[in-house]
Amino acid sequence: MTTSASLANQVAVVTGSGRGIGRAIAEALMKEGARVVISDINEELCSKTAQELAAQGGETLSAPCNVTQSESVAKMVETVMAKWGRIDILVNNAGITRDNLFMRMSEGEWQAVIDTNLTSAFKVTQPVLKIMSKQRSGRIINIASTTGVHGNFGQVNYAAAKAGMIGFTKTVALEYASRNITANVVAPGFIDTDMTRALGEEIINKYVERIPLKRMGTPDDIARAVCFFAGPGAYVTGQVMEVNGGLYT
Ligand code: NDP
Repeated sequence: MTTSASLANQVAVVTGSGRGIGRAIAEALMKEGARVVISDINEELCSKTAQELAAQGGETLSAPCNVTQSESVAKMVETVMAKWGRIDILVNNAGITRDNLFMRMSEGEWQAVIDTNLTSAFKVTQPVLKIMSKQRSGRIINIASTTGVHGNFGQVNYAAAKAGMIGFTKTVALEYASRNITANVVAPGFIDTDMTRALGEEIINKYVERIPLKRMGTPDDIARAVCFFAGPGAYVTGQVMEVNGGLYT
């Protein structure tokens, strides 16, 4: 790994980074020189991904964590601090969908998405901000969704959680600017991962027809936006960057 990279020696924690967008974000941050913490609910996937990325020449640490459980988050943060003693970048990426039209949505579907996609940001960011505050520097990047900005059929739970994440980020940005900590949102559009593949070819093709750039986004498209916000000189905080191929509704 080149030491002239912009994130040399920084420590980055990426939740839900066993696969999909989180994995691509971890890989991109590693290529910028960061030491990356692969954290995912699935322990086996965590260590497999950490090993695969390390094989490319970077420094990785496998630290599994369920972002809905405070004790699990505390253990992950402890593991990182014991190994590297600092956290410079936090990417709150772990997320799920439980889609249904509003009238058919169960309270369980609502609550699971609010817990995993929104309350998780509270549970993970609070202990990490304590560390960043002492360091007097930090970068927080939250992965929301265009659905949180514009809404989407069948996703009232997901839209509410992701919109909540945007308000959360803007407030953290205000409260922590004086400590040289920035907080921003990347809001992906329609990205090619297991989450969207589960929708099936017909629905995918309908979405792609509506995207002005005429393709699904890739996890790497999202990772590039995250690297911008994670960069040392980014004079940007409290912002939402939509990465959606021009699809705004
Ligand atoms: P994937 O489902 O492909 O990957 C999500 C990862 O998060 C999985 O490894 C999953 O583990 C993990 N995860 C789920 N629940 C938890 C938990 N409680 N604690 C820790 N890890 C957990 O999703 P994507 O990569 O597509 O999505 C990543 C983020 O991007 C999400 O926040 C999503 O909402 C957002 N996003 C995605 C879009 C897309 O088009 N794909 C569009 C807009 C936003 P497991 O293997 O157990 O499921």
